[in-house]
Amino acid sequence: MKNHSHQYRSQMRKAAAGICVRCPNPTAVGKLECDACASKRGVKKRRIPLARWLAVHWSLPIKEIAGLLGVTTTTVTNARKSLGLPKAYRWTNVDWSKTDEELAKKNAVSEYYVSRMRKKHCGTHWPEVEITVEGEE
Ligand SMILES: [Zn+2]
Repeated sequence: MKNHSHQYRSQMRKAAAGICVRCPNPTAVGKLECDACASKRGVKKRRIPLARWLAVHWSLPIKEIAGLLGVTTTTVTNARKSLGLPKAYRWTNVDWSKTDEELAKKNAVSEYYVSRMRKKHCGTHWPEVEITVEGEE
């Protein structure tokens, strides 16, 4: 583990000099990396008071909530779980006439996820469109 300790020493030197361990930017006192690098890695830790979580508009896309609070989407998901909110909370007010692709983009989720939500809320995997087939009936 010689390599590791070398890297560690170099990081400590940089930290002592107030330089980010990942880039040449200056860091805040006592921090190993600058804010830009920290948020890039998604490790920017911030304590959100319960009141703020309760004031969140959970119908917003998760990425948007995360952006508003300055936390990761994982943090938002965990918070939603600990608040006991159902996972599909924001899927109760959806225009299901839109395609999976459109809904996926709008809500920042995968098309597979939209398809599952559609099945759950509409009982079908497809948009509710009337299809008239000539020659039948
Ligand atoms: Zn940096």
